[in-house]
Amino acid sequence: MSLTQVENLISSRKEQYLNQLFRLLKQKSISAQDVGVRECANLLKEMMDNIGINTRIMETAGHPVVYGEIMNDPNAFTLLIYGHYDVQPPEPIDEWLSPPFEPTIRDGKIYCRGVGDNKGQLMSQILAIKTYKDVFGEIPINIKLVFEGEEESASANLAEFVKENKELLACDLVYTSDGPMHDSGSPFVLLGVRGMLYVELTAKGAEWDNHSGNKGNIVPNPAWKLIDLLRTMRDENGRVLIEGFYDDIRQPTEKELQIIKELPFNQDDIAEKIGYSKLDMDGEMYYRKLTLEPTFNIAGFTSGYGGEGSKTIIPSKAVLKMDMRLVVDQDPDDIYEKFCKHVKKFAPDIEIKRLGDMKPSRTSADQEIIRVVTRAVRNSFQKEPVLQPSLGGSLPDYVWTKILNTPSVVVPYANFDEANHSPNENMGVNNFYDGIKCTCYVINEISRFYSKTKIQHNVELAD
Ligand SMILES: [Zn+2]
Repeated sequence: MSLTQVENLISSRKEQYLNQLFRLLKQKSISAQDVGVRECANLLKEMMDNIGINTRIMETAGHPVVYGEIMNDPNAFTLLIYGHYDVQPPEPIDEWLSPPFEPTIRDGKIYCRGVGDNKGQLMSQILAIKTYKDVFGEIPINIKLVFEGEEESASANLAEFVKENKELLACDLVYTSDGPMHDSGSPFVLLGVRGMLYVELTAKGAEWDNHSGNKGNIVPNPAWKLIDLLRTMRDENGRVLIEGFYDDIRQPTEKELQIIKELPFNQDDIAEKIGYSKLDMDGEMYYRKLTLEPTFNIAGFTSGYGGEGSKTIIPSKAVLKMDMRLVVDQDPDDIYEKFCKHVKKFAPDIEIKRLGDMKPSRTSADQEIIRVVTRAVRNSFQKEPVLQPSLGGSLPDYVWTKILNTPSVVVPYANFDEANHSPNENMGVNNFYDGIKCTCYVINEISRFYSKTKIQHNVELAD
């Protein structure tokens, strides 16, 4: 069996594969505006059926999931591929150099809304199945595909869908290709995400804004109320003082700490990219803070007069928005409870509103399957992958690790500057083909790993 045949077949079908991608790209599927989503689900189902993937459309309380499977042997390794077929709204449209839903190639890149996020990556995975089947005759493992229709609308019904279909979705590994590759052009292997809790605090003073002289010292200032509360929540070194905030944080393993030390880090380059020239830390601290530690961030603070010149008032209201990025195994429900308890104790009249949350996730880098996937990605790209224990940001990865109880890995195929969510979203034509190749390598490496474990299993049975 030769993976060279896979590469040759992809080369000979470049135009055909591109046309299939273009067909999917032309079909709008803007979940936030409810434009074309159902039509796109139908089209995707048709395309998957044509490849021999047994596909159906499954309803949720929102937009449907397109579910497909190739089941060869109930005892074989089962890979679940997750992606999404919905896209962000294209606005502002006049900033696009070519119409957002007419795929156009310029300088080796396909420009279209949704090409990087996530249709190009999703089609790479589907077309890998076709390629692999056509080269080798069959897929050596079981594959399940879950393509969601509302990822760009916060995956509102994904957790419920996974809860309701645990048995159907049971698998040995969840594999996602979404987001950009590392900025060095190296492939990423991401093992988790930070979660989030978003809260809003409102402090009130008088019924309306008052004169700061005529009523000064008489009417309380709600901005000070919030600042006084904040001082009880965090010390000058940034440590959160809310009781129990750090209790459930899982200690990183030796391997994870080792990985962090080896990640590429260029302080000046990062400082420039974030617009903060005073950045002063080494790579180890950078990645520890970014991937293994929670944050306690003030996202917005509004009170009183912020316009030009001066206005002498005591504001009647102050509003604070905070997002806390959480790491495994902090639970947003638990952290919210602890947060409320703290506010009740120090400022009982401040109102709390919970605006959103997501659980964190992490798959252990020590698992054999992670080594298998990393090896496949390395061999496919002929480059050392950047293995990162967690993304700094948040994705609903917990539905796999916490609800399905399955390891999960994210291997993005899009270029670093894919401009997803922005005008002129793009994906390199070669990123698309490389994605097809990489998925074939992953299927192949997993099947080799599986047959190895099967042999061990048989030996055990023989005993
Ligand atoms: Zn997106």
